[in-house]
Amino acid sequence: MERFEKLLKKRLEEGTLRSLSPCTFRNSGVIQQNGRKLIDFSSNDYLGFSNDKRLFKSVVKALETYGAGSGASRLMSGDLDIHHALEEKIACFKGKEKALIFNSGYQANIGIIPAICNRHDAILADRACHASQLDGIELSGAKLFRFRHNDVDHLKDLLAKERSKFEQTLIVTESVFSMDGDLAPLKSLVELKEQFNCWMMVDEAHATGVFGNHGEGLVFSEGLNERVEFVMGTFSKALGGFGAYLASSRLVIDYLVNFARSFIFSTALPPSIIAANIASLEICQETPGLGRSLLEKANNLRKTISGFGWKICGESQIIPVIIGGSKDSVMYSDKLKEKGLKVVPVRPPTVPEASARLRISLSLAHSETAISTLIGAFRELS
Ligand SMILES: *Cc1c(COP(=O)(O)O)cnc(C)c1O
Repeated sequence: MERFEKLLKKRLEEGTLRSLSPCTFRNSGVIQQNGRKLIDFSSNDYLGFSNDKRLFKSVVKALETYGAGSGASRLMSGDLDIHHALEEKIACFKGKEKALIFNSGYQANIGIIPAICNRHDAILADRACHASQLDGIELSGAKLFRFRHNDVDHLKDLLAKERSKFEQTLIVTESVFSMDGDLAPLKSLVELKEQFNCWMMVDEAHATGVFGNHGEGLVFSEGLNERVEFVMGTFSKALGGFGAYLASSRLVIDYLVNFARSFIFSTALPPSIIAANIASLEICQETPGLGRSLLEKANNLRKTISGFGWKICGESQIIPVIIGGSKDSVMYSDKLKEKGLKVVPVRPPTVPEASARLRISLSLAHSETAISTLIGAFRELS
């Protein structure tokens, strides 16, 4: 047990120790922690759907029809018609033939990648890729090459040197990067993947619900849905629910039902959450432009805060304010908390060394007053 103490102590000294802090209340855009109400700029509930009454109604109906739990994995008796209804809906939304639900984005990535790649293959992943993608790659046994963040030339060099040595090669990226808030150069990546005869897998966790006229994601809105083989994403962020999906070809989905271990050996998501996910997709289909108005708000906020001299990156609803040192990022986060604002510091190892940041994530649930409070706080702290 001594080793655990030692490692925790090291984290404490580096300013990277994490701990939990329960909310006693949460609604879209607000939480209550330690008896204090805070405006929440740290959730991924970008459209405020997690508290949308239309989702609640579907949840209650599904509970009454199917019960609280699904009782078993999909391949046993937990496979409900409502799972298939969601899969059809998300496949169509993403412009792909078929889709498969996974129990979370993490489980999707650690299930899909080892099922489609093996130790004879190579995987080229953007340096900023999410931990779940990296864990999936490790499980696959494939040889990993990391290309510099959004650096198409670096990827091209790696492919030129390495492609011919491997049976199959998979390019892995996010479409909207979770910690940098910037967008992958999808068109150029797709051109390279075709030139070098690779497959491509895109994680749309932060793009789904936000990019595209109805929130179809970046792959679809850039017209690349037929050229990217594996389009993965989650229901847990902008869509306000829980779970994840892979949208792909009929063949790939039929294959994964047989070979993706995180799909096979886990109980099916409960019907209530599936119903919530269906309801949020229906809202997206009925209301175009939700993401667009969020992105306009984010753009204005980014300009305003960088106008005070803060270093900001990204071009999405995720607005990282780069601080540098881990301890400084914690200090600023604490100061924001004193002003009634929850903006969590994101520190190494989640982000590269010396690039600790305050990650502001904007939601349509944030009122004008909430946004003004945030702007006022950054003006004062600058
Ligand atoms: C959040 C996230 C995941 C994990 O999704 P969960 O459903 O929360 O497990 C995977 N990939 C990316 C890029 C994410 O941001």
